[in-house]
Amino acid sequence: MNSLFEKVVHPQDSVLQFVTQYEYIMDIRAERENVEACKGEISDPPLRASYDFEKQAANFYTRNVFSKFQELLHDSTKFRMIDIAEDDESLSIRIVHPNSSRVRIVSVSKDATSYLCSCNMFARDGLLCPHILKVFTNRDVQEIPDKYLHRRWSKRQQQRFQNISQVLNHPLEFQVQTS
Ligand SMILES: [Zn+2]
Repeated sequence: MNSLFEKVVHPQDSVLQFVTQYEYIMDIRAERENVEACKGEISDPPLRASYDFEKQAANFYTRNVFSKFQELLHDSTKFRMIDIAEDDESLSIRIVHPNSSRVRIVSVSKDATSYLCSCNMFARDGLLCPHILKVFTNRDVQEIPDKYLHRRWSKRQQQRFQNISQVLNHPLEFQVQTS
């Protein structure tokens, strides 16, 4: 930090220049912290269960959202599938929790591309609920269909926002004198 100051701030600079340069230094520091945060994001988060779809989620979601996904996956182990009804188009799977009388119903299309749960968590939060994840593990689903990987929670989308905010945060750059 000090060496950065010595490089950019000169004794003859006016107070205004000093303030401008101080802001610039703060921007550089914020950017460095951003880069550090990104490094953490890039390293692989630990998998709890090693399902293929868990690896897929680890690659897709930001670190924070993936932690939430892992919690939901862990919660899913507490549920039990009690029966499956079948019609021409879908399976309806009833799911219960040992400590609750509430029954959730997961509907799975026959081609296994659509999963709907009566809890509606995906519509609300954009993340698959523990009931659908229970069906995934029970039926040995390997891959989360694309439509259930919400772009809002993706690493790629987060990177885009960071790039935009970095551009917007550096309007002062052209004013800086370097010796
Ligand atoms: Zn659900």
